[in-house]
Amino acid sequence: MEGVPQRALLVTPHPDDAESGCGGTAAKWIAAGAEVYYLICTNGDKGSGDFTMASDRLAAIRVEEQMDAAHVLGVKDVMFLHHPDGTLEDDHQLRSEVVRAIRKYRPDTVMCMDPYRSRGHTHRDHRVSGQVAIDAVCSFAWRPGYFPEQIRDENLQPHLVNELYLWGSEDPDLFVDISEHIDMKVNALKRHASQINDPSGRGDRIRARSRSVGERAGLPYAEGFRVLHFEPQLPWGD
Ligand SMILES: [Zn+2]
Repeated sequence: MEGVPQRALLVTPHPDDAESGCGGTAAKWIAAGAEVYYLICTNGDKGSGDFTMASDRLAAIRVEEQMDAAHVLGVKDVMFLHHPDGTLEDDHQLRSEVVRAIRKYRPDTVMCMDPYRSRGHTHRDHRVSGQVAIDAVCSFAWRPGYFPEQIRDENLQPHLVNELYLWGSEDPDLFVDISEHIDMKVNALKRHASQINDPSGRGDRIRARSRSVGERAGLPYAEGFRVLHFEPQLPWGD
């Protein structure tokens, strides 16, 4: 069974990915007293099949939708990086931005998408954001030698994260019972109206997916994660 962190940061490739992957768990943790923060890496400006929809207009709509969804769940703060959809790179720039969010919000738990999948394709932004979040947690956020300008110029201190929850994993090893929060997950996802082609069936599809994850663990509704733990250690002790 999962513990409830004091603070959790969700590193999210596109608006709506956080609610889709772990909205029930976020709602559950918030109800138990946790502070949950979002880092939204891209603006999702390619997420439409409508040729008449301008990218900048869609990006603005998706900020509003994401803020509404975060409000439904009770998310404490949302940071947008505004990278164009499909442009995330596993590079120094994105690593510094994720490290900055970790040093600012100081989470016990970071949640991100599992970048390692061998049995199916996943969006490039999903892979890149997941890998960069893992690297930021594992080395870069807690070592003062990385991005020292954040420490010097922005008064952000190094921070050690205890655990990573990877959503979208092919091999989850922890299932969170979200039965009491499935309605909130559905309500939050419905706020992303620009991503819904069939509004009447949206809730049923979300429930069906959470039910099928739950079946793997004997739970009515669940979200599954691959969890990585880190031993607290002094920055100079590794
Ligand atoms: Zn996505």
